Amino acid sequence: MTQRPATAPSILVIEDDAGDFGLVKAYLREAGLRPVGDTSGLHWAQTLAEGLALSQQTASDIVLLDLSLPDSSGLATLQTLRAASPHAPIVVLTGNDEKSLALAALESGAQDYLVKGQFDADGLGRAIRHAQVRSRIVQERYFTQAALDSLPGLFYLIDQDGRFLRWNQNFERISGYSATEIATMHPLDFFGEGDHGPVTAAIAQSFATGEALVEADFIAKNRTATPFLFSGKRFVLDQKPCLMGVGVDITQRKVANARIEWLSHFDVLTGLANQSLLRDRFQHAISMAQRSGRTLTLMTLDLDHFKNINDTLGHHIGDAMLVEVARRIQSVVRDEDTVSRQGGDEFVMLMPTTDAAGAGHLATRLLATIATAYQLDTHELLTTPSIGIAMYPTDGADFETLAKNADIAMYRAKQDGRNCYRFFAAEMQTHSTHTLHMESALRRALERGQLTLHYQPQMALANASVIGAEALLRWHHPEFGAVSPSEFIPIAEASGQIVQIGEWVLRAAVRQMKAWLDSGLVGKASPFVMAVNLSVVQFRHPHLIEQVMQILQEERLAPEYLELELTEGVAIDDPLGAIAVMDALHARGIRMSIDDFGTGFSSLSYLKRFKAYKLKIDQSFVHDITDDPDDKAIVSAIISMARSLGLQTIAEGVETAGQLAFLRDSGCDEVQGYYYSKPLPVDTFEAFVRQARSAG
Ligand code: C2E
Ligand code: MG
Ligand code: MG
Repeated sequence: MTQRPATAPSILVIEDDAGDFGLVKAYLREAGLRPVGDTSGLHWAQTLAEGLALSQQTASDIVLLDLSLPDSSGLATLQTLRAASPHAPIVVLTGNDEKSLALAALESGAQDYLVKGQFDADGLGRAIRHAQVRSRIVQERYFTQAALDSLPGLFYLIDQDGRFLRWNQNFERISGYSATEIATMHPLDFFGEGDHGPVTAAIAQSFATGEALVEADFIAKNRTATPFLFSGKRFVLDQKPCLMGVGVDITQRKVANARIEWLSHFDVLTGLANQSLLRDRFQHAISMAQRSGRTLTLMTLDLDHFKNINDTLGHHIGDAMLVEVARRIQSVVRDEDTVSRQGGDEFVMLMPTTDAAGAGHLATRLLATIATAYQLDTHELLTTPSIGIAMYPTDGADFETLAKNADIAMYRAKQDGRNCYRFFAAEMQTHSTHTLHMESALRRALERGQLTLHYQPQMALANASVIGAEALLRWHHPEFGAVSPSEFIPIAEASGQIVQIGEWVLRAAVRQMKAWLDSGLVGKASPFVMAVNLSVVQFRHPHLIEQVMQILQEERLAPEYLELELTEGVAIDDPLGAIAVMDALHARGIRMSIDDFGTGFSSLSYLKRFKAYKLKIDQSFVHDITDDPDDKAIVSAIISMARSLGLQTIAEGVETAGQLAFLRDSGCDEVQGYYYSKPLPVDTFEAFVRQARSAG
């Protein structure tokens, strides 16, 4: 069996005349396009219908088409076939008298024509080979176009006059313009005025330097604008410089960029401005204020005890509260004001053109709106803010200074009892810088072992025996030296550090008490208690009872050896809550005394319900009892009242024998003070106890 040459095209002959078909077959053989006896790849159809069917089945390389067929004639024959197989090269066969028709056929897409009776084998061979080549070119063009059409973006080819020579289907689809419209349009027609400059420049640059890129909004026929990145590359077509390029939709990238931009300027949780945007706005506002000679307000707002909400109810509730606080702040300020969150529960507000009166007014409204109850999840919560205000130009002329001074004023508001606002005043500054210093030093005090406890003996007046010790905190800082607790405890309370510090104190004191019991320094038989001061902040902490019990358990100390010194302040805000906590502590066998008694304003009715067993008469009354008749009267009144309530009394700050005598005469039970001993480091205290015992 003979092999068909690899180049032998498969040919479909649509010809109703069998004689003509025979001739074609013979010529094909002669031209070397068909080996002798090989009929594979040669198909014959005698009608157009049959030809159409065969062209679908065989995918022939070449079609030889007689235009006059039984079921179709003239140009229509060609058109029908081309519609069915648009890419097959067609060579038309016509009679001599149909020459003009053959020419029309070329215009309708036929590759060549042969006039019957006027061609030979060579002519047929040449016509077929040319048709094949031309068809390949057509197919390549078709392929190129298909490739361009499959591009996700825009493709365009324009000449130097800005005429569109070619474009892809997406260009039509995305622009919404038809091919005929595009052909008459100029590139700038697809852009808004604002982009005309850059686009023109990019086109000029492409022609001049070979390539360019430009980002611009592509405007469709329906006027929608989409951001695109366009490239232009110089390209020579028919010896004329052109520009070929693609346009890529960069909407997604823009969205991502906008998101990044947003994230760098806004607080994710609340959607408020962040520090960096606040600074930008401040720069703008301050230059306006400088020019107009007007004032500007910077306000710092911090929620009071917000940490407690986070600690007890979780961050989820804490976050929800911050979002709501942010919303409330924004509902109160004006549009031109900037509200920012600086992290945590601290908000900073910039109010251009607001003067002191306006700032005070706004702060009052903020206090009210933030103090309204919050319904979060199933919780109804309350919070209050402390607000500090600094004004340009009086309190500073740059962001750093104003922000720092607003902060200082805010700390002052906290010190003054919270839930209030304070304007910055220069005298706050020295004080507050010191406070800030101390606060950060205090953060490290625990871990660096700078805290210790001293113990002050408590004596029974009847027989001068040591019946207890008050643990008093000492802080030695390498730079500040010995810092008095009256100075650093309020700072630790304001910053919340007291909770952690207090826990350390409690554990250290309990452990010490246990050690004394174990060593026999204090007898289990004779009563002895370790008194530990408890800050109001600690007292209100929701885990207080748990914490105390856990420490006692871990240190293996029976609760009756511990006394917690509370101040009257614990009951100020929420007397019933305080009573409940005291009841719970009492039920667990822990003693409580009321420290600094007489300086607060406990109502007698509450005092009756406090589960305290002892009142500590404040040293300010003791100080002058020998000569001040008022103090004499107060102290004796306290002692007799305590007695009638079944409470014991201990007088603090007893320094002289005269004071001691008066107290003894008034019926006071115990004393504590320099008369017997200052607060002592542990070993000195132990020596004191041993000595007192041997003396007694
Ligand atoms: P406080 O609880 O009323 O403690 C008594 C204070 O009076 C102590 O001052 C003590 O050293 C001092 N003092 C004792 N006897 C005399 C005396 O005869 N004359 C004079 N002038 N003063 C005497 P300190 O140690 O400076 O403590 C001051 C305050 O700091 C304490 O007052 C207490 O409220 C607080 N504090 C001390 N340690 C702690 C602690 O561990 N936790 C808490 N929350 N507060 C503490
Ligand atoms: Mg005390
Ligand atoms: Mg006291």
